[in-house]
Amino acid sequence: MLFRQLFDCEASAYSYLLASRPGGEAILIDPVKERLPQYLQLINEFDLRLIHAIDTHTHADHITALGDLRDVTNCTTIMGERSKADCVSRRVTDGELLRADGITLEARYTPGHTDESFSFVLNPARPQAVFTGDVLLIRGSGRTDFQGGDPHASWHSIQSRLFTLPDDTAVYPGHDYRGWTMSTIGEERKFNPRLAGQTEADYVALMNGLHLPNPKLMDVAIPANLACGQPQ
Ligand code: FE
Repeated sequence: MLFRQLFDCEASAYSYLLASRPGGEAILIDPVKERLPQYLQLINEFDLRLIHAIDTHTHADHITALGDLRDVTNCTTIMGERSKADCVSRRVTDGELLRADGITLEARYTPGHTDESFSFVLNPARPQAVFTGDVLLIRGSGRTDFQGGDPHASWHSIQSRLFTLPDDTAVYPGHDYRGWTMSTIGEERKFNPRLAGQTEADYVALMNGLHLPNPKLMDVAIPANLACGQPQ
């Protein structure tokens, strides 16, 4: 399997390139507009055909590369069915399968960080990894205070839609601010300080008490991302 985790230092955002082999079909998750040349370089170097570019949710802190990738590679652009981005070519529903040769991703509706967030499970018959967007982060979780975010929904998504995956499922989040790159479901169940040993009420109180400043790019990024990262 060809797997690349790419990092955008500006937004501390991760993107993921997946393909079963050099020369095959590829999928890119949560690509960042400024990093487009790097994605195209890898796609070229490994002789890949990008068929799906996916956003887990409408990002508030960086601009998506979905529209640019569609223009350059002819890939399908994908978000969850509740996304307000009309520019995407395919909206997935809960449980829907996305395929590239040798790779299957299962779309899983995991609201909480936003009301339209999806996670994607790699090879759901024997889950190998889950791309959690921002609902579950490593030893943390995504804020729940805008874009339809809801701490109760976040708790339920994590507990009943992610923590029910096998313990050895790798966790690849949409962001990390502290140097973590990956985790596992078992590790997060045991050690995530917001979740392990906590009740739903504890979690909701903690999330409602965060009072985080808005992301710097929020006013620019959200409208841009509803247009797949391209000027209207
Ligand atoms: Fe986010």
